[in-house]
Amino acid sequence: MPRLRLPHFVIVKSPGLLPMHYKIGELAETLRIPDRTLRDWLVAGAPHFRDERNNLWIHGRDFAAWVASWRKPTKKRKLRKGEAFCLRCNKAVVMQDISTHPMRGKLIMLRGKCPECGCRINRADRAPTHSTNNINWTDIQNEK
Ligand SMILES: [Zn+2]
Repeated sequence: MPRLRLPHFVIVKSPGLLPMHYKIGELAETLRIPDRTLRDWLVAGAPHFRDERNNLWIHGRDFAAWVASWRKPTKKRKLRKGEAFCLRCNKAVVMQDISTHPMRGKLIMLRGKCPECGCRINRADRAPTHSTNNINWTDIQNEK
Protein backbone atom coordinates (compact mmCIF):
# COMPACT_ATOMS: atom_id res chain seq x y z
CA MET A 1 0.00 0.00 0.00
CA PRO A 2 1.35 3.43 -0.82
CA ARG A 3 2.12 5.67 2.10
CA LEU A 4 -0.69 7.96 3.04
CA ARG A 5 0.15 11.57 2.78
CA LEU A 6 -1.58 13.17 5.69
CA PRO A 7 -2.03 16.92 5.31
CA HIS A 8 0.16 18.94 7.61
CA PHE A 9 -2.91 20.50 9.17
CA VAL A 10 -4.22 17.08 10.22
CA ILE A 11 -0.90 16.18 11.82
CA VAL A 12 -0.89 19.40 13.78
CA LYS A 13 -4.54 19.28 14.72
CA SER A 14 -5.07 15.63 15.61
CA PRO A 15 -3.22 15.66 18.98
CA GLY A 16 -5.89 18.13 20.10
CA LEU A 17 -8.75 15.73 19.39
CA LEU A 18 -10.87 14.93 22.38
CA PRO A 19 -11.20 11.55 24.11
CA MET A 20 -14.68 11.08 22.67
CA HIS A 21 -16.31 9.45 19.71
CA TYR A 22 -16.69 11.51 16.59
CA LYS A 23 -18.99 10.90 13.69
CA ILE A 24 -17.31 10.96 10.31
CA GLY A 25 -18.81 14.33 9.47
CA GLU A 26 -17.76 15.84 12.80
CA LEU A 27 -14.21 14.62 12.60
CA ALA A 28 -13.88 15.63 8.97
CA GLU A 29 -15.11 19.09 9.85
CA THR A 30 -12.78 19.38 12.84
CA LEU A 31 -9.85 18.39 10.68
CA ARG A 32 -11.11 20.44 7.75
CA ILE A 33 -10.90 17.57 5.31
CA PRO A 34 -13.58 16.12 3.01
CA ASP A 35 -15.64 13.23 4.42
CA ARG A 36 -14.47 11.22 1.46
CA THR A 37 -10.82 11.59 2.49
CA LEU A 38 -11.59 10.51 6.02
CA ARG A 39 -13.46 7.44 4.74
CA ASP A 40 -10.42 6.55 2.65
CA TRP A 41 -8.28 6.70 5.80
CA LEU A 42 -10.68 4.41 7.62
CA VAL A 43 -10.32 1.94 4.80
CA ALA A 44 -6.56 2.38 5.07
CA GLY A 45 -6.69 1.34 8.72
CA ALA A 46 -7.63 4.33 10.84
CA PRO A 47 -9.30 3.03 14.02
CA HIS A 48 -13.09 3.19 14.05
CA PHE A 49 -16.10 1.08 14.89
CA ARG A 50 -19.72 0.64 13.86
CA ASP A 51 -22.56 0.67 16.33
CA GLU A 52 -25.65 -1.51 16.04
CA ARG A 53 -27.29 1.08 13.80
CA ASN A 54 -24.33 0.86 11.44
CA ASN A 55 -23.08 4.32 12.28
CA LEU A 56 -19.35 4.80 12.06
CA TRP A 57 -17.57 6.28 15.04
CA ILE A 58 -14.00 7.36 15.47
CA HIS A 59 -12.40 7.91 18.83
CA GLY A 60 -10.43 11.13 18.89
CA ARG A 61 -7.48 9.80 20.87
CA ASP A 62 -7.26 6.60 18.85
CA PHE A 63 -7.33 8.58 15.67
CA ALA A 64 -4.60 10.90 16.93
CA ALA A 65 -2.44 7.88 17.78
CA TRP A 66 -3.01 6.52 14.30
CA VAL A 67 -1.94 9.81 12.75
CA ALA A 68 1.14 9.84 14.97
CA SER A 69 2.01 6.31 13.89
CA TRP A 70 2.19 7.53 10.32
CA ARG A 71 4.60 10.24 11.25
CA LYS A 72 7.24 8.09 12.84
CA PRO A 73 8.49 6.13 9.85
CA THR A 74 8.95 9.36 7.92
CA LYS A 75 11.36 10.53 10.58
CA LYS A 76 14.23 10.35 8.32
CA ARG A 77 16.05 7.26 7.56
CA LYS A 78 19.59 8.21 6.82
CA LEU A 79 20.56 8.62 3.23
CA ARG A 80 23.36 6.39 2.18
CA LYS A 81 26.26 7.51 0.07
CA GLY A 82 25.13 8.43 -3.38
CA GLU A 83 21.50 8.59 -2.37
CA ALA A 84 19.30 11.62 -2.36
CA PHE A 85 15.69 12.29 -1.69
CA CYS A 86 13.59 12.73 -4.81
CA LEU A 87 10.69 15.01 -4.01
CA ARG A 88 8.71 13.88 -7.01
CA CYS A 89 9.03 10.16 -6.23
CA ASN A 90 8.84 10.95 -2.50
CA LYS A 91 11.59 8.53 -1.62
CA ALA A 92 15.32 8.05 -1.45
CA VAL A 93 16.90 7.10 -4.74
CA VAL A 94 20.43 6.48 -5.92
CA MET A 95 21.41 9.55 -7.90
CA GLN A 96 22.71 9.22 -11.40
CA ASP A 97 24.99 11.52 -13.38
CA ILE A 98 26.37 13.01 -10.20
CA SER A 99 28.41 16.15 -10.32
CA THR A 100 29.83 17.94 -7.30
CA HIS A 101 29.79 21.65 -6.71
CA PRO A 102 31.63 23.37 -3.89
CA MET A 103 29.54 25.27 -1.41
CA ARG A 104 30.47 27.17 1.71
CA GLY A 105 33.12 25.69 3.97
CA LYS A 106 33.34 21.92 3.84
CA LEU A 107 29.99 21.49 2.21
CA ILE A 108 29.58 20.35 -1.30
CA MET A 109 26.48 20.15 -3.40
CA LEU A 110 25.88 16.89 -5.16
CA ARG A 111 23.77 17.35 -8.20
CA GLY A 112 22.28 14.38 -9.93
CA LYS A 113 19.35 12.84 -11.63
CA CYS A 114 16.64 10.60 -10.27
CA PRO A 115 16.90 7.18 -11.95
CA GLU A 116 13.15 6.72 -11.78
CA CYS A 117 11.58 9.96 -12.86
CA GLY A 118 14.61 11.69 -14.37
CA CYS A 119 14.16 14.95 -12.49
CA ARG A 120 17.14 16.84 -11.09
CA ILE A 121 17.91 16.39 -7.44
CA ASN A 122 20.41 18.09 -5.20
CA ARG A 123 21.93 16.99 -1.97
CA ALA A 124 24.27 18.82 0.29
CA ASP A 125 27.10 16.70 1.62
CA ARG A 126 30.36 17.08 3.43
CA ALA A 127 33.44 17.21 1.32
CA PRO A 128 35.73 14.21 1.96
CA THR A 129 38.23 15.26 4.59
CA HIS A 130 41.07 13.08 3.35
CA SER A 131 42.04 12.90 -0.25
CA THR A 132 42.62 9.16 0.16
CA ASN A 133 39.02 8.89 1.14
CA ASN A 134 37.63 10.11 -2.11
CA ILE A 135 34.45 8.47 -3.11
CA ASN A 136 34.13 7.02 -6.53
CA TRP A 137 30.55 7.78 -7.41
CA THR A 138 30.60 5.61 -10.48
CA ASP A 139 31.46 2.58 -8.38
CA ILE A 140 28.63 3.29 -6.03
CA GLN A 141 26.14 3.50 -8.84
CA ASN A 142 27.35 0.22 -10.32
CA GLU A 143 27.16 -1.50 -6.97
CA LYS A 144 23.44 -2.06 -7.02
ZN1 LIG B 1 12.20 10.81 -8.91
